[in-house]
Amino acid sequence: MSDDQKDWRKLGFRTRAVRAGHERTSEGEQSEPIFLSSSYVFESSAQASARFAGDEPGNVYSRYTNPTVRIFEQRLAAMEEGERCVGTASGMSAILATCMSLLKAGDHIVASRALFGATIVMFDTLLPRFGVTTSFVPLTDLDAWTQAISPSTRMLFLETPSNPTTEIADIAALAELAHARGCLLVVDNCVCTPALQRPLTLGADMVVHSATKYLDGQGRCLGGAVVGSDALVGVEVFSFMRTAGPTMSPFNAWVFLKGLETLDLRMHAQSRNAQILAAWLETRPGIQRVHFPGLESHPQHALAARQQTAPGGLLAFEIPGGQDAAWRFIDATVLVSKTANLGDTKTLITHPASTTHRRMPPEARNAVGIIDGLIRIAVGLEDTDDIKQDLQRGFDAIR
Ligand SMILES: *Cc1c(COP(=O)(O)O)cnc(C)c1O
Repeated sequence: MSDDQKDWRKLGFRTRAVRAGHERTSEGEQSEPIFLSSSYVFESSAQASARFAGDEPGNVYSRYTNPTVRIFEQRLAAMEEGERCVGTASGMSAILATCMSLLKAGDHIVASRALFGATIVMFDTLLPRFGVTTSFVPLTDLDAWTQAISPSTRMLFLETPSNPTTEIADIAALAELAHARGCLLVVDNCVCTPALQRPLTLGADMVVHSATKYLDGQGRCLGGAVVGSDALVGVEVFSFMRTAGPTMSPFNAWVFLKGLETLDLRMHAQSRNAQILAAWLETRPGIQRVHFPGLESHPQHALAARQQTAPGGLLAFEIPGGQDAAWRFIDATVLVSKTANLGDTKTLITHPASTTHRRMPPEARNAVGIIDGLIRIAVGLEDTDDIKQDLQRGFDAIR
């Protein structure tokens, strides 16, 4: 391949998704190889010493680098338009690695209050034990972000759209604020993926991923990633990872590579299915509210249309009758899967208040709209008529 073709910036997104990162070996393989090898053999003691010293590039040990994981990292970096990517064992370890490599005792984070449940627990209870504190603010309130920043604030952290209530953050505005105040903006891009939104191009400094979700796309493997500049990710995050060790398994990296190849097709197809279902849900009698950025009733519909290429596959809706009704609705379905994951080709149904967000105090939960009657759907690739028929069983059960 010519050097020009290796500059992925010159190629389209879909080309990067299927080709970036793979340098065919002398075996001539068409599909990316899986390198299940913990360590690597040196030609001489002098080479071993040079590799350990970092004077010579090359593999040493799979906690540092692995050829299959590297293909995944280069491909995702090309798709997010970042200089470097580091793969991690899970989405949570990507967030932990970001915090541990960039923050120290005395530092402060300003974070959206509408975050993945385990991220809130990490920021609220784990990081304070190491002297890092967090202020939580409403995702869409730019004044609240501005006021929460103090001289010790080092990082702003958000997810957009938020899960499950699909609030949208103005990434460019928050990047400008972060940089004016000497902070880094970190965006968890798990719900949109680079197929629908590329935060680094809007000014964010780093992107974190749970590869477990749409990057895999078929509910098989746990993994995560951090993407950003050479200085932040290539040096700081990589140094933490090679020492602390929450690294991605090469087998999982291979599964994610196959997932990335169909990511763009899946994300747009799942978005289209979600749009059809959200519009249908809005017409159901008794429904109180449907959260979906593709609906004109969504408070930030215009911002979502500007910032994302499609609304995404996640939606939530409110029914009357609290947890009892929500559980009856969910338990009446037979096709959709009752599971707390998201980003699968199969449609998933969840009651966030009693599962993914149950560790949040009820007041905090209600403040972000995760009321007891809220049901979340991560829309898959089935025929929408079949999903509608299944959800109708839920409506019949609460009538
Ligand atoms: C699932 C998820 C995570 C955590 O990822 P794991 O792979 O489960 O560790 C982080 N952020 C978001 C938005 C998620 O949905």
